[in-house]
Amino acid sequence: MNTKKIKSILSLCMLIVFITIGAQVKPTIYVLATGGTIAGTGKSSTTSAYKAGSISVEQLLDAVPDLATVANIKSEQIANIGSQDMNFQVWLKLVKRINELSKDPNINGFVITHGTDTQDETAYFLNLTAKTSKPIVLVGAMRPSTALSADGPRNLFNAVACAASPESIAKGVMVVMDDKIIGADDISKTNTLSVGSFDNPNFGPLGIMYNGKPIYTRTSKKKNTIDAEFDVTKLDKLPRVDIILGYVNTDKVFVDAALNAGAKGLVYAGVGNGNMSGEVLNALSQSVKKGIPVVRSSRLPAGPTCQWDEIDDDAHNFSASWYLTPQRSRILLMLALTKTTDYREIQRMFTEY
Ligand code: GLU
Repeated sequence: MNTKKIKSILSLCMLIVFITIGAQVKPTIYVLATGGTIAGTGKSSTTSAYKAGSISVEQLLDAVPDLATVANIKSEQIANIGSQDMNFQVWLKLVKRINELSKDPNINGFVITHGTDTQDETAYFLNLTAKTSKPIVLVGAMRPSTALSADGPRNLFNAVACAASPESIAKGVMVVMDDKIIGADDISKTNTLSVGSFDNPNFGPLGIMYNGKPIYTRTSKKKNTIDAEFDVTKLDKLPRVDIILGYVNTDKVFVDAALNAGAKGLVYAGVGNGNMSGEVLNALSQSVKKGIPVVRSSRLPAGPTCQWDEIDDDAHNFSASWYLTPQRSRILLMLALTKTTDYREIQRMFTEY
């Protein structure tokens, strides 16, 4: 073998060594795909009609080759649905899989691709049930993958970069959309179309993604993940909790309907600071007396639903949701009901989570 050949074999070996070492130092992020607009395709790049959950996780990842610069990626398709069809079966499958995978020391964080309609709910459910301090980041897109200026690829890159950063450890579950990092304990979809739809209307995002790195400006004080007291590992269903909306001239028809449907708890999305008509107040008070707990929340987009405001919660044994929206209140109440029906204990949870 001549010197030239030996040199080129040596350079090839060094390249392989560098690639291997490089691959080892990069964090490994596990992407769990559930569908949504980020995996949606339409016939045209300029009109809005499309079908959510059409492309596979492999196709999604292939569209963003830059991911390889920040992490080694492993992936798995958990579901491929529009998130209006998200359900407890998928939630339990997802959280059990995360809890299992998080024990693997070679996995550094998780990214979950998800439709945006119920992304806030899945994020909050995982925030209370995932047993790991490794970063868990949900991501979606407001525009399908075939649209002009699709937001999915950038959001996915940012989500993976966020999950890959050691700064994202023990921050609770987060959602990364439109360069914002938003904590799952207070996140809302605020606009049906805008790419900037996701926000924390009370306190703003935890930080932003900038040049592929998170810049955090605050941390949530709410309990989450490994500090949360809920364990769903042995559950195959969750207790039924219904949300009832307050408006002018309300009667107790929907309270009765929910109880007849077998609700084990009720969330009232009241007017203003969780207020309700006299007829509804009486019906909800009766519900508590029958052993079906009631949480007062608000139909407003921001602000707390406070204990002891116009309604004396202790007089009716109600709990107040504070900063949780009716959707998130429902999730916390479902999990609370796996442990207790005592309104004081439920109120404690609504203060801590
Ligand atoms: N309804 C779809 C979903 O939630 C579209 C919303 C989206 O992903 O942006 O999956």
